[in-house]
Amino acid sequence: MQSPRTVALVGQPNVGKSRLFNRLANKRISIVHDQPGVTRDVISEDMGPYTLLDTGGIGLTGKLTPQIIQDATEEQVEFAIAAADLILFVTDGRKGCTHLDETLANKLRSTGKPIQLLVNKIDLPELEENVAEFSGLGLGDGLAVSAEHGYGMDELKDTILDHLGPETIEEIDDSDEPRRIRISFAGRPNVGKSSLCNQLLNSERMIVSDVPGTTRESVERNLDYETKGEGTWHFRLVDTAGMRRKRKVDSSLEYFSNLRTKDAIESADTVFLVIDAVDGVTKQDHILAESILDDGRALAILVNKWDEAQAMHRSGKLEEYSSLKEFKEFYEESIRKELFFLPDSPILFVSAKTGFSIERILQTARQLDAIQNTKLPTGELNRVIGDLLERQPPPMVRGKRFKIYYVVQVGNRPFRVRLFCNQPHRFEKSYRRYLQKGFQSHFGFPGCPVFFHLTGKEQRYTEES
Ligand code: GDP
Repeated sequence: MQSPRTVALVGQPNVGKSRLFNRLANKRISIVHDQPGVTRDVISEDMGPYTLLDTGGIGLTGKLTPQIIQDATEEQVEFAIAAADLILFVTDGRKGCTHLDETLANKLRSTGKPIQLLVNKIDLPELEENVAEFSGLGLGDGLAVSAEHGYGMDELKDTILDHLGPETIEEIDDSDEPRRIRISFAGRPNVGKSSLCNQLLNSERMIVSDVPGTTRESVERNLDYETKGEGTWHFRLVDTAGMRRKRKVDSSLEYFSNLRTKDAIESADTVFLVIDAVDGVTKQDHILAESILDDGRALAILVNKWDEAQAMHRSGKLEEYSSLKEFKEFYEESIRKELFFLPDSPILFVSAKTGFSIERILQTARQLDAIQNTKLPTGELNRVIGDLLERQPPPMVRGKRFKIYYVVQVGNRPFRVRLFCNQPHRFEKSYRRYLQKGFQSHFGFPGCPVFFHLTGKEQRYTEES
């Protein structure tokens, strides 16, 4: 997925970053960082071809001593270097080039990132001559602008687009073959994976064809399902040898490698973890579910052999429940308790033996597949994470607080979100879970895991979730 391009405004306090931001974003009411209610370190605006960031709130606390100004501005520059595709370095054309401007320019030059020097506060023609002095920074010609009066804005907008170049056009798939949703079944031996596959394959509405070139280890089949009124649904069932061949399993390692037929799981759009209704959730199911999510796959749970529960109900063995529906609700709740880490995965009650609810498996595969195509608007994503941070700020560790400046989606299938922060190592596991849960409950992507990747100042590396 092409991540949205970002343009960041950096520079010392009072050079006019907020004004420039408001001008470019056409904000009539100016948003500035010290305004009550605006506690975000970074303010962003979706500009269409790119996202504009004002970094001016990073690191500014209390009194602005020269040291705080220097540290804060350097932190802003660090962040912009990590996060932005283009950096707009703003200087004050009235004040002239300062020592701190030089320090920042040196830092920026060494990164190789595209940088545009802006000389702001050029409100009058006679101030134009002040621009020349900034050429010593080694960042090329400065562009004279006046955020206050709006001078130079059209040129600035064009310059930004020139730097960014055209947006990459997403490839158009013009093959005749329909896109197929890849599904696979995982689970312990004897939970009914093969039976479920057979039930699907033998459906009257299903046209099955083998995919040539499959290996002995895994078999892929194209499934075309003729719906009642919704056209044909196209799937590819990724079946594995481990599932088809029945053999004695003698080592625990082999047992576990049979449990999760890794290739099939990794290449699926949606994995169905099959649980035996009679046995309930076992420890192995727990391990499997976790590893499927760790692999970044969308996960739904199938409680198979539900015909057994139906039979028990008919013979009066579930009399403590007022109805089978109530038992089902109880059962679902207990699965959610056992597998507490599930990202709100759909849980289906099915029977491979009777064909009960089999079609819902296909509906669920389509539902989860569609969710995974979602592109998250950067503004909304930042608001959601920002609200979560405010509601429950990260704990202080040795006098320092973990901070997230800016968030952007960098992938889907699975969802990947990059968090630009101050110190990645302060991001605690429990806080990661809190954000993941908050993300889930806002966006509501049932069954789909989300990965947070951290990019921070101290260690310029990415930490996997
Ligand atoms: P796999 O090892 O997960 O592929 O399991 P199988 O599909 O081979 O099924 C294991 C056993 O469970 C077989 O004896 C099946 O007949 C039985 N079975 C599978 N699905 C169902 C079901 O929905 N209901 C009942 N009652 N038995 C089932």
